Amino acid sequence: MKPATIVGSGTAGTCLAWQFWFRAFPFRLIDSGITGSSHVAAGLINPVSGKNCTVPEDYALHYAAAETFYQKIEALLGTQVWHPLEIIRLIAQRDDAKLGKKMREGDAAEWVVRKLDESPWSDACAYLLHHGARLDVSHFLSESRSFFLQHGLVGTGEINAENLDDKNLHIWCGGAKGLMDQVPVAWQHRCAKGEILTVHAPAWKQERMITGRNWMVPIGHDHYKVGASYEWVFDHIEPTASGLELLLRIARDLGGEDFSIVKHEAGIRPIVRKSKPVAGLISPNCGVFNGLGSKGSLTAPWASAHLAAEIIDGTTIESGLSASAYFASIAR
Ligand SMILES: Cc1cc2nc3c(=O)[nH]c(=O)nc-3n(C[C@H](O)[C@H](O)[C@H](O)COP(=O)(O)OP(=O)(O)OC[C@H]3O[C@@H](n4cnc5c(N)ncnc54)[C@H](O)[C@@H]3O)c2cc1C
Repeated sequence: MKPATIVGSGTAGTCLAWQFWFRAFPFRLIDSGITGSSHVAAGLINPVSGKNCTVPEDYALHYAAAETFYQKIEALLGTQVWHPLEIIRLIAQRDDAKLGKKMREGDAAEWVVRKLDESPWSDACAYLLHHGARLDVSHFLSESRSFFLQHGLVGTGEINAENLDDKNLHIWCGGAKGLMDQVPVAWQHRCAKGEILTVHAPAWKQERMITGRNWMVPIGHDHYKVGASYEWVFDHIEPTASGLELLLRIARDLGGEDFSIVKHEAGIRPIVRKSKPVAGLISPNCGVFNGLGSKGSLTAPWASAHLAAEIIDGTTIESGLSASAYFASIAR
C-alpha cells in the first residue's frame, strides 16, 4: 500500500491523520497554511437542531464515535478538547404546541431532560437537553499538529492537483477551498459563509449552551462564542459590519447587555448535497474527505474511521458517505 499524503489539516485532515496514526498506516499531513473554517468553528455538538427541532441522522452513533475518538486523543496528548455540555433549547411560545410535542413524544424526546418550569426568556419555552458537547477545535488542531510535527509527519505548502507523483495516495481534505476550487475534481457545492463572535462576559454566568434562535456557548474563563450568520451568496471571506450587527443582537438576546468583544471572525462552511460528508477513494492514487458542513466536529471521527478502513482494509464504504456514489450521482 502506498503511503498517504493528506492534503489539508483542518478537522477532516486531522481526524484522518489520527485514524492512520492509531492504525500505524504511513502518512504525511500537508497544509497550505491558509486558515480554513475549522479555526473559526465553535465546535458545537447538538442533538436537536434547526427551526423544526430536527435530530441529525445517526446522532447517537456519531456522538459515541466522536466522544471515544476525542477522549482517546485527550488521553494521549494529556489535554482536554472535548467538553460535554447541557443545552437549553429555546422554542418560541407560539410554536410550542407543535414543536413541544416533538420534544415530548417525537425523535427529539430521547435527548430532552425536561421542560424548564420557568424560562429565562419571556417569549420562549426552554427545554433542557443532554448529550451536547463542544469540541475546542482550535486547541484540538494545534495540539494535534504539534504532536504530528514532533513525529516528522507535517509539511507546509499548497499542493497542486495537476502535478502529482504516483508514489503516494493523495487524500484531499481541502474544506471549502477545495470545493470552490473544484479540487481534485468537480464538486456540486453549496458552501455558506458564516460569521462568529467571541465575547468576554463575566456577568453572564451561563454554563449551558443556548440554542434555538441562533446560539451561544460558554468556552471557559467567562468567555463565550456567539453565532452564527449563514450566507450562500458572498463576494469575500472577511467579517462584515452587517454580520457584526447581527451577532451583537444575538449576544444581547441570549446573554445580556454586559459584554466586550474579543474576536469577530468569518469562515466558509464546506457543504455538498444534504450537508453530509463525502469520503472515499475515487481512483487508486486519489481519495477525498470533504463536505463536513456545519457538523464537522460531530461527524469527522465517524467518517474518517470509515475512510481509513476503506484505505487500509479495503472495506466498502457505505453509500451515504461514499465518494464514488456521490460523484456518480452528480454525473447523472
Ligand atoms: C462561522 C462558522 C461556525 C461553525 N460552527 C461549527 C460548529 O459549531 N460545529 C461544527 O461541527 N462545525 C462548525 N462549523 C463548520 C466547520 O468549520 C466544518 O464542519 C469543518 O471545520 C470543516 O473542516 P475541513 O477540514 O473540511 O475544512 P477546513 O477547516 O477549511 O480545512 C481545510 C484545510 O485545507 C487546506 N487546503 C485546501 N486546499 C489545499 C491545497 N491544495 N494544498 C494544501 N492545503 C490545502 C486549507 O488551507 C485548510 O487549512 C462552522 C463553520 C463556520 C464558518
